[in-house]
Amino acid sequence: MEIKKRNLITGGCGFLGSHLAKKLLEKGEEVISLDNFFTGNKKNIEKLYKYPNFELIRHDVTEPIKIEVDKIWHLACPASPIHYQHNPIKTTKTIFMGTYNMLGLAKRVGAKILLASTSEIYGDPEVHPQNEDYRGSVNTTGIRSCYDEGKRIAETLCSDYLRMHGVDIRIMRIFNTYGPNMRFDDGRVISNFIVQALRNERITIYGDGSQTRSFCYVDDLINGMILLMDSNFQKPINIGNPREFSILEIANIIKDLINPELKFYYKDLPQDDPKQRKPSIQLAKEILNWEPKVELREGLIKSIKWFKSNL
Ligand code: NAD
Ligand code: UDP
Repeated sequence: MEIKKRNLITGGCGFLGSHLAKKLLEKGEEVISLDNFFTGNKKNIEKLYKYPNFELIRHDVTEPIKIEVDKIWHLACPASPIHYQHNPIKTTKTIFMGTYNMLGLAKRVGAKILLASTSEIYGDPEVHPQNEDYRGSVNTTGIRSCYDEGKRIAETLCSDYLRMHGVDIRIMRIFNTYGPNMRFDDGRVISNFIVQALRNERITIYGDGSQTRSFCYVDDLINGMILLMDSNFQKPINIGNPREFSILEIANIIKDLINPELKFYYKDLPQDDPKQRKPSIQLAKEILNWEPKVELREGLIKSIKWFKSNL
């Protein structure tokens, strides 16, 4: 039997895409990274050019593309609230048209396709922790809706391509992930706090900091992503770290690791900011035999080292 090994990673120069590309290249597979460089960074992939099996294409997923591949990892989409809210109409277009184009490609060439979905499809959840059966509580008209509703319709599109055309889909609901290769101006909480602390700036807490998130180190997340693609599981599945922290706790841990003298600066909580978030990963344990291994402190120390050496 032929081993399928030519990978297309959309959003391949972003935070997660660049880690995935490296991991697949290390496994000896071919990787084509596709990116429009909205939030992607060429620096994230500069070390990958040493692999003869690596290629880069500048392309916007809102336009169709014809290319022979076996596996499509569809990650293209700004993930940080400040970036996806910068041009929300483009965000919706990227998610809908991008997923539509990639599903069309998967159908045409018979490729498997993994959608990078998100915990945001649960909105501001009333069920805690969130399991895959929970249908979410999402505002359709708020500032986060372009992303949340975009990802929800992307899951629907995938499911309809499976039902109508038998496209071999994977739907990965990614919970907050952090690590090296995040942009310094990414705007998400861990990178913001680390960069502020390294620059001796005040740490910006939105609201009173009592809202919670559960943070997964990038290496764990990428292992889960590859296990999912290699599985036969065609329904949505949560991948994330179930250890929950308040934002204030995170700020204190990072402050203590970098500079205990730092001060906090409180800002307004953005509209529709979820109050709590924590994945149930029961399904991932059962189906993929996956669970995260890296503790928050350990992951933060690795991330701080990377940010420090790249600042
Ligand atoms: P990122 O912003 O670092 O990377 C996204 C990449 O997609 C960038 O390289 C960007 O330039 C590219 N891109 C954006 N619009 C594009 C377009 N129209 N055409 C081609 N490329 C485009 O974000 P990330 O953290 O690496 O997230 C990757 C995926 O994972 C996203 O789909 C995101 O929704 C999902 N996700 C991430 C997290 C997380 O915590 N990192 C959580 C949930 C879901
Ligand atoms: N947040 C914060 N300060 C920052 C950036 C974010 O207090 O400088 C808060 C934000 O309001 C949210 C949480 O941290 O409650 C996580 O935000 P992030 O943008 O990382 O991810 P998301 O809200 O999409 O989970």
